[in-house]
Amino acid sequence: MDRKLVGIPASPGIAVGPVHLLRWEIPEVKHRIITDDAIPGEIERLHDAFARAKERLAQIRDRVERTAGKQEAAIFDAQRFILDDTDLTSAVEELIRQNIGAEKAFEIVMFEWSQRFAHAPQAMLRERVGDLKDVEIRVLTMLLDLPDHDPVDLPKGAEAILVTHDLTPSLTVQLDRTAIKAIATDTGTRTSHVAILARSLGLPAIVGLRTATQQLNGRETAILDGSTGLLAINPSHQDIDAYRERARQEALAEAELRHLATLEAVTTDDVRITLRANVDLPEEADLAATSGAEGVGLMRTEFLVLGRASMPDEDEQYRAYKRVVEAFGGRPVVIRTFDIGGDKLPVGGFPPEPNPFLGWRAIRMCLDQPELFSTQLRALLRAAVHGNVHIMLPLVVTVDEVRAARALLDEAAVELERRGVAFRRDVPLGVMIETPAAAVACDTFVNDVAFFSIGTNDLVQYTLAVDRGNANLASRFTPLHPAVLKLIRRTVFTAKQHGIDVAVCGEMASQPLMAFALIGLGVRQLSVAPRSVPLVKRIVRGISVEVAEEAANSAASKGTAAEAAEELRRHLTDIMADEALFADGLPTGELESSL
Ligand code: PEP
Ligand code: MG
Repeated sequence: MDRKLVGIPASPGIAVGPVHLLRWEIPEVKHRIITDDAIPGEIERLHDAFARAKERLAQIRDRVERTAGKQEAAIFDAQRFILDDTDLTSAVEELIRQNIGAEKAFEIVMFEWSQRFAHAPQAMLRERVGDLKDVEIRVLTMLLDLPDHDPVDLPKGAEAILVTHDLTPSLTVQLDRTAIKAIATDTGTRTSHVAILARSLGLPAIVGLRTATQQLNGRETAILDGSTGLLAINPSHQDIDAYRERARQEALAEAELRHLATLEAVTTDDVRITLRANVDLPEEADLAATSGAEGVGLMRTEFLVLGRASMPDEDEQYRAYKRVVEAFGGRPVVIRTFDIGGDKLPVGGFPPEPNPFLGWRAIRMCLDQPELFSTQLRALLRAAVHGNVHIMLPLVVTVDEVRAARALLDEAAVELERRGVAFRRDVPLGVMIETPAAAVACDTFVNDVAFFSIGTNDLVQYTLAVDRGNANLASRFTPLHPAVLKLIRRTVFTAKQHGIDVAVCGEMASQPLMAFALIGLGVRQLSVAPRSVPLVKRIVRGISVEVAEEAANSAASKGTAAEAAEELRRHLTDIMADEALFADGLPTGELESSL
């Protein structure tokens, strides 16, 4: 093996394969002054690059339509329209006639257009900013004769390990998922949207590798271990054999855990814990239903919008929600309204913000765009006919937001009634507790909501002022910080006092040591990634609430997250000695030495 790169484990599993390096960034362009004689040739070069870019787009469009669907492919039509715009070509030609090289002339015009689009009052134009960037990369790649790193340009069955700087929504939609075995990114953390998506797709992933795209040239082979965060470059045959053996053992361990699917999630002192699944894509519903989950604790609907040029309409949403609801029979399915913004799918139409995580995100964006929000609410009320739907609002900080959402929900019901469409009116409405404001003042919500669900990914981010997606801060993102534990305890206490259901649906619930802490803090409902259901169930069945409470109280009284973890680990290993390997859900270091 040449070397090892270590990142943040984001989605478990082992993959061995060729590296597919995807550099989807605007290349550097040199300023070239051309002579008058060279002008016609430069203009011809421009037209030729446009023609080749259009040809490429047509290929991609067809491929995406075949692999992902019509809606997903529509994004490429938008890019084609940009290339067909005669204003664009004339503006670039005009600059070339002023003796500027074609690529610089094109870059200058694209910059002007991006600025204009980004600040345009019409959403339609703002929606095109991401497309402009893609078009710019495509044309400059042609003009500068650079290697084409197109994400769809993978031979069928390549089984490649995709290495890229940041997996954006538009890149994700272009990926031929059948040709990709695993994902590695320079940016991101366990809780960033790329990691969440990789887990949903069941693809092993490492994030936060920082410089992988600079260190690799795309001609390597690699082993990616999504459980330890290790990317081994150009491994020897022995390395590969060792990892294949480890993959075999992991598969065996997983199969063994699957036996737990039909068993109850009950502690050794007979306390029932409700274990539900987080579902991000409707296609995941069946896997979640067979994993032993007792319903869905969080469906992230924003993934329906992934990489699309426009929002799905009411009927399309209704069908997606219905699919998940029906997979779970009459069991509760908590569907969260769009949480768009932050690092999550900045679909077009949203002006760029200096601070997206503190910006126009989630419930704020929905309430400000009642038409978009009401469409989703109507689809939810209709899907509720088919099972036990709960509606959940993300990122609330004040009860006013809940009241405004309820008013829109009531209007949605009136509208459906007027149309004579089947729907259900008595759908429980709840909130995510994922801001310190909501946690500290959770008592202010109790008369207006039916349930709380603690979103620890954001709660940790906002409490500790640590960007959840910033790989440089990953070691500071500590869910066991005393402030976080105290906020959770307070929320659970208030919920119980007022007879309100409370669950945890953030990543914390999926990590065994932290699930142990949550149960100790009084949480009785956990919602985790479908693949984590059996593992968390095993922890639940191996612990007693009595010991968990003792451990959690003692952990919450510690001054630091490290001390809290130590305290929890000590208690957990005492009762589940052979589970020590899983005790913190973090890399053990043991696998590295096995290479
Ligand atoms: C959370 O914030 O913990 C959560 C579950 O929501 P998301 O990760 O989608 O922001
Ligand atoms: Mg959240």
